[in-house]
Amino acid sequence: MNHLPVPTCGKDHVSREWRPVTFEYADDDVSVRVPNVYAWVCPADGEVSFTPETVDELIETVRELIETAKRARRRRSILTEYVVSVGV
Ligand SMILES: [Zn+2]
Repeated sequence: MNHLPVPTCGKDHVSREWRPVTFEYADDDVSVRVPNVYAWVCPADGEVSFTPETVDELIETVRELIETAKRARRRRSILTEYVVSVGV
């Protein structure tokens, strides 16, 4: 994938770095962690900037996972944590 031009942090005036981060989301007592998501990261303040495509993917994926977790909670599942991987 071609990511040029490299975006610049408006506050720190340095080039952002394209590297993996962990996305985290919490809704009530259900939390979702998505490791190894690539994003533009400011090396000065660590601010993470996801591409619009990645944001769309994260929203859809997190919504589905939260639904799954809440469904499990409603049926009082003994399972409290899941690790799901794709293509590894
Ligand atoms: Zn910055």
